[in-house]
Amino acid sequence: STSRPRSELLYAEALLHIVGGVNSPSRSFKAVGGGAPVFMKRARGAHFWDVDDNRYIDYLCAYGPIITGHAHPHITAAITRAAENGTLYGTPTELEIELARMLKAAIPSMDKVRFVNSGTEAVMTTIRVARAFTKRSKIIKFAGCYHGHSDLVLVAAGSGPSTLGIPDSAGVPASIAGEVITVPFNDPESLKQALERWGDEVAAVMVEPIVGNFGMVMPKPGFLEELCRMTREAGALVIYDEVISAFRFHYGSAHTYDVFPDKAAIEPDLTALGKIIGGGLPIGAYGGRKEVMEQVAPLGPAYQAGTMAGNPASISAGIACLEVLQKPGVYEGMDALAVQLADALRASADSYGIPLQINRIRGSFSAHFCSHPVTNYDEAQDTDGEQFAQFFRLMLEQGICLAPSKYEAWFLTTAHTEEDIAATIQAADQALRAMAAAHGQ
Ligand code: PMP
Repeated sequence: STSRPRSELLYAEALLHIVGGVNSPSRSFKAVGGGAPVFMKRARGAHFWDVDDNRYIDYLCAYGPIITGHAHPHITAAITRAAENGTLYGTPTELEIELARMLKAAIPSMDKVRFVNSGTEAVMTTIRVARAFTKRSKIIKFAGCYHGHSDLVLVAAGSGPSTLGIPDSAGVPASIAGEVITVPFNDPESLKQALERWGDEVAAVMVEPIVGNFGMVMPKPGFLEELCRMTREAGALVIYDEVISAFRFHYGSAHTYDVFPDKAAIEPDLTALGKIIGGGLPIGAYGGRKEVMEQVAPLGPAYQAGTMAGNPASISAGIACLEVLQKPGVYEGMDALAVQLADALRASADSYGIPLQINRIRGSFSAHFCSHPVTNYDEAQDTDGEQFAQFFRLMLEQGICLAPSKYEAWFLTTAHTEEDIAATIQAADQALRAMAAAHGQ
């Protein structure tokens, strides 16, 4: 069991200087009973060490980007080389062309690409570009999908067939929230109704083709096909937010993944990227059809710029990360370990009578403490937060690091080993047994 006095101390200190003690609210332990989050000081491969020298096996993986494990030597060498040559020029570089070529080769729906600094920026700009192209202002998004923290997409709440935006954050004007229509994921009928009602005002339908933000959730067969067909019929654009999903399940985007039989029927007009394509440094990118992308300055009237955009360090790390992911067997390796881990978790939960819903997609999965399948946000909301909080803490005590959120996925990397998986299976079994025993009393 771990003891973390230095994390406690640093948290008290951080609270004095950094709002909430954290630089992203997802890092706080608010959702798992509060207290000090763990302050890490070093990471290598699949492992973390905290400031009290406890070791952890990492399944948080920085919320997705760390797919080759921490401090991968090939990526570290690329970053070092970039640093030695100067980190920021404010001019174009040859490296940017190389990463753009790699992205286009893997995601053929992107004729043209632009690099930015985060997933938030990428998504935010795809919306501007879609609005410029269609000369319309509304967007449709799906309940529970997170698309970064820009005003327009911080409108996630809403159940029922379709909801005109209620902001999820203070500071988002009602006039902006009113431009967003929210419908349930995996429900073509609701989307149809929304398009019938608002279709000629809708610039774009924004979706995570494979959801990563209320669990890992596959679109039902035919859902993306229907979505694309109905959206185009309404004269709106299809935007895929692939900030989590691109290069996560195979070398390419979610919509080029083999589980989808008719790729042409699910091609987006615009795609937003981030996370993995920066190899652990800040990055975002967006791209799409030539005519649509030509809206962007300096070619067109839609403005978007960035001092740090395309910086050599992020681009070099991204290229190096994709090079690692191109090696044969990389995805199959993560896949095999995730199958072992997910099967064992399910078996342990079953044996202690704890309802656990596991959605696994290749090397990552979500584990909802709830008794029915999770295919949309309403269903995900039935997840038992108390149970998750107990599980989270029991795992942490045994040196297993998960995201402090009941919806967040477990991510495997190319660095996780059979030994890591075996240790995690044992820890999870202990945790679930303890939870069942406490519940029985
Ligand atoms: N879109 C999706 C699907 C995401 O999961 C995230 C971040 N979790 C974002 C956009 C925002 O990306 P960033 O945090 O890099 O701004």
